[in-house]
Amino acid sequence: MAQRTALITGITGQDGGHLSELLHAEGYRVFGLIRGQNNPRQMAVEAELPYVSLIEGDLTDMTSLVRAVDTADPDEVYNLAAISHVGYSFKNPTLTADVTGKGVLNVLEAVRVTGRAEATRVYQASTSEMFGGLDYNRPGNGYNEESLFHPRSPYGVAKLYGHWIAKNYRESYGMFVTCGILFNHEGERRGLEFVTRKITNAVARIKLGLQSTLELGDLWPKRDWGYAGDYVRGMWLMTQHHKADDFVLATGETHSIEEFLTLAFAEVGIDDWRPYVKHSAAFMRPAEVDILLGDPSKAEDILGWKREVDFPGLVRRMVAHDLAVQSRHI
Ligand code: NAP
Repeated sequence: MAQRTALITGITGQDGGHLSELLHAEGYRVFGLIRGQNNPRQMAVEAELPYVSLIEGDLTDMTSLVRAVDTADPDEVYNLAAISHVGYSFKNPTLTADVTGKGVLNVLEAVRVTGRAEATRVYQASTSEMFGGLDYNRPGNGYNEESLFHPRSPYGVAKLYGHWIAKNYRESYGMFVTCGILFNHEGERRGLEFVTRKITNAVARIKLGLQSTLELGDLWPKRDWGYAGDYVRGMWLMTQHHKADDFVLATGETHSIEEFLTLAFAEVGIDDWRPYVKHSAAFMRPAEVDILLGDPSKAEDILGWKREVDFPGLVRRMVAHDLAVQSRHI
């Protein structure tokens, strides 16, 4: 069988790294879209993922996407690039709409106008933040592919546009465009701006005497947290399925930020985290999603996908990683 080729947007991000590893192991030729002149993350990507061929481009620049698709000539495009931080999206809503929303249209158009509508499969990174977590649309056993959307942030709203334009291209042009509605997934590659990694990094530094306190916003929001390595396998499985569709990937469990915090501190032998954690209003959002819980039954039944890392296992591996990284500073 001829070697398959994939183009990943968002190659410098958490999922871009995990997915590149998986596709490389599956024998793919992997191209990654990298933005900006002299992107500060380029050297790290080149060192960590030496088999990835980088192509410069930006989701807001259609010409660059056409060039990227022409260069890579991909069998599969994984559109992972986005302004992906909910808090940041409140501060930069226009940019978020341009990148996270309209950027999806640009990717789909780049595939279509280069004559690859029939040949190239597209994976779109949709999100549980499209559901919003309000009482009225919250099913007891978790959100599934049929649940009502009510996004509560500029990020969620932009992603919902991306989700629907992806479905529209599936229906209008018969393109293979699959949407993975993924609940939170974390890991060693998670950016330090995200609360889970911020916690595990701070816990490691506090344990090693490199930091004394950690500032956080509300601790009560609950999320359905899985491990990124498990979730990129789900992305790949749904892109191999015979039919483009929507699939929820989730663990089916929900835990508060406080539970994450408690487990992370316990990992380094600190049973009472209260002396170390300060509340800061700066991290609160104009609208919060109280609780997210996903129902992954469809992906489990149809794709045979199942997450392997559980919640304590996720916290353990993130703390262990950050302890190892931070130990190099002492
Ligand atoms: P991430 O770590 O924040 O990575 C985002 C990527 O998008 C980075 O590589 C970033 O590149 C790139 N990017 C930002 N603006 C761009 C632009 N204008 N043009 C091209 N690239 C741009 O996100 P992630 O956690 O890997 O998530 C991957 C995707 O899944 C995202 O779309 C995210 O919204 C979605 N998702 C994530 C989760 C989760 O829990 N992780 C859950 C559901 C959905 P730079 O290095 O240049 O900034």
